[in-house]
Amino acid sequence: MALTMRALTESQLQALRERVGPQKVSRNESELWVHARDEGGHGEHPPDCIVYAESRDDVVQVLKFCHHERIPVVPWGAGTSLEANPVALYGGVCLDLSRMNRVVEIRPEDFQVTVEPGVVHYDLNKQLSRYGLFFPPDPGAPATIGGIVANNAAGIQAVKYGSVKHYVLQLEVVLAHGEVLRLGSRAMRSSSGYDLVHLFVGSEGTLGVFTEITLKLVGIPPEVSAATASFPRLEKATQAVVEIVQAGLSPAALELMDPVTVRDINAFKGLELPEMPTLFLEFRGNGPEVAEDVRLAQEICEGNGCVSYQSVLGREERDRLWEARHHAYYASAAANPGKRAIVTDVAVPISKFPEMVEFSRQKLEEFGLGGPILGHAGDGNFHVGIFYGDEEERAKAHQVNEAIVLKALELGGTATGEHGVGVGKIAFMEREHGAGYRWMHQIKKLFDPHGILNPGKIFPPE
Ligand SMILES: Cc1cc2nc3c(=O)[nH]c(=O)nc-3n(C[C@H](O)[C@H](O)[C@H](O)COP(=O)(O)OP(=O)(O)OC[C@H]3O[C@@H](n4cnc5c(N)ncnc54)[C@H](O)[C@@H]3O)c2cc1C
Repeated sequence: MALTMRALTESQLQALRERVGPQKVSRNESELWVHARDEGGHGEHPPDCIVYAESRDDVVQVLKFCHHERIPVVPWGAGTSLEANPVALYGGVCLDLSRMNRVVEIRPEDFQVTVEPGVVHYDLNKQLSRYGLFFPPDPGAPATIGGIVANNAAGIQAVKYGSVKHYVLQLEVVLAHGEVLRLGSRAMRSSSGYDLVHLFVGSEGTLGVFTEITLKLVGIPPEVSAATASFPRLEKATQAVVEIVQAGLSPAALELMDPVTVRDINAFKGLELPEMPTLFLEFRGNGPEVAEDVRLAQEICEGNGCVSYQSVLGREERDRLWEARHHAYYASAAANPGKRAIVTDVAVPISKFPEMVEFSRQKLEEFGLGGPILGHAGDGNFHVGIFYGDEEERAKAHQVNEAIVLKALELGGTATGEHGVGVGKIAFMEREHGAGYRWMHQIKKLFDPHGILNPGKIFPPE
């Protein structure tokens, strides 16, 4: 039987209600539309219904039934993805995990926590702060741990602390046919067989649904010092990034914003930052170590012609700057009313970062398109928001996007450093992975033979 591409029948809906309880199944029009799109620009596709799972058993019931009936099931955390990762392209059930939001157990003595997938990372960190601990990956949006793990998200602090995959110790996963797997252990290292935990990290809801996640934690460092550095030219700022990383400094954040981004966030947040290529830096650690890193970073920036270096920002100013950085996406959207954007997410080896950024800037200029360039420079990962209005601009935006991704691959990089493949990066997967992509597809078929889990993501529709 092929995957159902028609609306769920009334009897299928009734069967779902009987399995999980009628109050957890919604066909409310406005809720369907809220679940029809993420924060990216890939359009809207409402599911046929939403099931608000409240327990592992609800997830098992939904998957068993949908596997039998060949109904698509698309897990949903908070819907903050940018590549349509949680969007039900073929209708079916949107499996909303946000009500499974219990912190199951904090084990401060082991620096570990076990959570349900719907916990929002900001809320988790609030609870962990009582123990002097935190979970570093911060995608800059109010995302759930389930969505963060499924996208292998990274964010601002990844340059020091790494992306999500470095933090996942154990996963409880419900497979497409309803079987529950418990993967991994609480040991800090293991060489015990194939690493299935990390097969599921970054699988974007296409291999199984997480119902419990055990994470490693980190102690909150005593000292935090933030700085901004403004440069006359973009290539000077990107060169400073390379030198900071190559000097072995370990910033907790090293973010690049081009003048367009700075202008947009000034307008959006009422700030008065110099509208020049700017780096945001943050150092965390013990007092003397932080002071030395800040001093060396300043030296490197000044050596690259930095015209203004503001260090030792007060806590309030630092928070205001980071808040502005977190709102950069919405600031640029506000500066381009009525337009949509393709957001690139390439990452390249750090030595290639200046060349990659310059190439992207030239492509925008060559095609006469506007948009911000910003990103997690310390990891060689950055975003270009390619804004477009009419059809002609849309076609150009796709050309620019393609040119940027192909250039990143040529430089030994990747199409997506943190946002995942979703639908937006499918076109580049074969190019990036070669025969490896075929093997990924075999793995998908092994775990989900009927293709019910998040169809049309990572792989083209069958
Ligand atoms: C303003 C803004 C800034 C952002 N900045 C960053 C950034 O700096 N770094 C970064 O990495 N990302 C960033 N993002 C993207 C986004 O926040 C992350 O990808 C985040 O991890 C998505 O989490 P979510 O809870 O919203 O998941 P969703 O968007 O709801 O889902 C994400 C994927 O996970 C799957 N999924 C959800 N829950 C489960 C589960 N329990 N089991 C299995 N699969 C599941 C979904 O099917 C989907 O494929 C940003 C987004 C916005 C809007």
